[in-house]
Amino acid sequence: MKKLVHYSAVTSSSSAGPFDPDALRTKYAEERRRRLRSDGISQYVEISGAFSRFGDDPWADPGFEREPIADSVDVAVVGAGFGGLLIGARCKQLGVDNVRMIDKAADVGGTWYWNRYPGIACDVESYVYMPLLEELGYIPTEKYAKGAEIFAHCRRIAEHYDLYRNACLQTEVREIRWQQDSSRWLITTDRGDEIRARFVAMANGYLQKPKLPGIKGITDFKGHAFHTSRWDYTYTGTDLSGLSDKRVGIIGTGATAIQCVPRLAEAVRELFVFQRTPSTVDVRANRPTEPEWAASLEPGWQQRRIENFQILTAGGTSDEDLVDDAWTSLTKKMPIVNEGGPNAAEMADFAKMEEIRARVQAVVTDAATAEALKPWYGYYCKRPCFHDEYLQAFNRDNVSLVDTHGRGVEQITANGVTVDGVEYPLDCLIFATGFEVGTSYSQRTGFEIIGRDGLTLTDKWADGVRSLHGVHVSGFPNCFIESIAQSGFTVNFPYLIDTQSRHIAWVIANALKNGIAELEATSDAEAAWVDTVVQRSSVIAGRRESCTPGYYNREGRADARLNQDSFFFGSPTEYADILDAWRSAGSFEGFAVRQVTHTDQYSGDRS
Ligand code: NDP
Repeated sequence: MKKLVHYSAVTSSSSAGPFDPDALRTKYAEERRRRLRSDGISQYVEISGAFSRFGDDPWADPGFEREPIADSVDVAVVGAGFGGLLIGARCKQLGVDNVRMIDKAADVGGTWYWNRYPGIACDVESYVYMPLLEELGYIPTEKYAKGAEIFAHCRRIAEHYDLYRNACLQTEVREIRWQQDSSRWLITTDRGDEIRARFVAMANGYLQKPKLPGIKGITDFKGHAFHTSRWDYTYTGTDLSGLSDKRVGIIGTGATAIQCVPRLAEAVRELFVFQRTPSTVDVRANRPTEPEWAASLEPGWQQRRIENFQILTAGGTSDEDLVDDAWTSLTKKMPIVNEGGPNAAEMADFAKMEEIRARVQAVVTDAATAEALKPWYGYYCKRPCFHDEYLQAFNRDNVSLVDTHGRGVEQITANGVTVDGVEYPLDCLIFATGFEVGTSYSQRTGFEIIGRDGLTLTDKWADGVRSLHGVHVSGFPNCFIESIAQSGFTVNFPYLIDTQSRHIAWVIANALKNGIAELEATSDAEAAWVDTVVQRSSVIAGRRESCTPGYYNREGRADARLNQDSFFFGSPTEYADILDAWRSAGSFEGFAVRQVTHTDQYSGDRS
């Protein structure tokens, strides 16, 4: 006889009935098996060579030209998204003025520069997601801001901290090489620049290089095709009216597709959504900012709110829930980083997923479509999504879900897309297939960093990331790397980015103040941090192994390497506390430090 478990609702979004844990375990394992592939991450096609047009910048002026630059700066920051902007802002706040951001995009903004697909928004609350709100005196207009508002905020940060003045935009770094004789980094670019920098900081982003699915026939398609992160408004029209007579296909049903499918559904003649694995789609409940609430905010409000969100979403407890949304109500009961015992966590997860599936059942009218939209895996196996119009879009007559039963699209032809032997003719094919994860650093960034004694970062990290605090790398003096690797876990990336940016700015400011010419993490300090990261990853390792494939678990190949390359799983604010304590000690512990000599005085380098 089946043993059913009754579980009170995890969140109040939908109710679900009793469930049979054994049956769910079996179903999840079956669905996982169906999706496992021998080619792992190499199933994807890199955007280069014949595919390089998919990476072209639709927003830049292609005729832009400028003279090459040959000069010196104190700090060169590669990337002008939130990472570069926050390093710049935090440096300026500490009196380090000679900062240059370099970015291949034609403006600042990073993710929010590139991604402008219809429906784009951030599903983390804007009051905690958008940095420096108090410093800039800005209050977002909605609880979940749209992409355009976030992009405008990026520009506001650059203006406020005067970061445009010295920036090199529409400029691709070709190489970054350590010059031992002058203790400088030499940065060369596609514009013929030779920029020397005392310090370099990498703020290249995490999900920044689009990828395409390696589907048979992908080069055969004769219609119009593009990736969501390079939306072609010239073809679609800014109001999407260019699609009103078109048959449009979209491959992928991750967080990006969840946001743009409802907008496409309203605009196109026919929409075909090609699905390999359904996302979890929970309630969004966006609302405009209430002026009275905004007026009531007291100084220090944003940092308090961010820390409260961070604590609640990273497994901690607090008497208050300031954000009080789907993320926090969920993670309070179902910590992402779980220390509450495996069985309780599994039951809470089953209950949550039953709620998610019940929501699909309640919203989607066609029974077969509803069945196909139900996700069968642990809740945190994939990026949770929140939307109030995505599932509803499948009730429209012009929208069809083409489920591939976990196998993915079979073939792309000159006319369209084939699944189960049926060809779906299309005028336009949109790839919502995400971004490279797990490929080498130089493949993702497009350049190599060459450190002391000619050591490349690719060689250094050939067997996995090695760093001190996720930021400093032995062999790469005066170099800082912002990334998720070996850095504190969060669902709110700007929190991590700002934690690292404050740290980097402090190190630079203090090195300059104290006449330090070179500082470099020792290999002992680095080894100790790598060990800590690997050891802490045990809280998440089991889940990674049992999860359905995706970029979180290297397409189902969770292994020791993934544990090393991923987040540092400490308690909610532990990572920030470790960096704070290190700075408070003020002794540059774990670093080899060389003082300035008369040959490398700062004269002439600082504006
Ligand atoms: P994802 O990598 O999450 O999704 C890619 C999609 O493409 C998946 O549904 C995948 O299926 C599918 N796919 C890949 N290959 C094939 C194939 N051969 N046939 C059919 N389908 C295929 O990319 P996204 O751009 O959606 O999101 C990336 C990340 O960006 C998110 O996880 C999130 O972190 C961030 N994001 C955040 C937002 C926010 O509001 N904060 C909004 C949007 C994105 P499968 O699942 O089976 O692999």
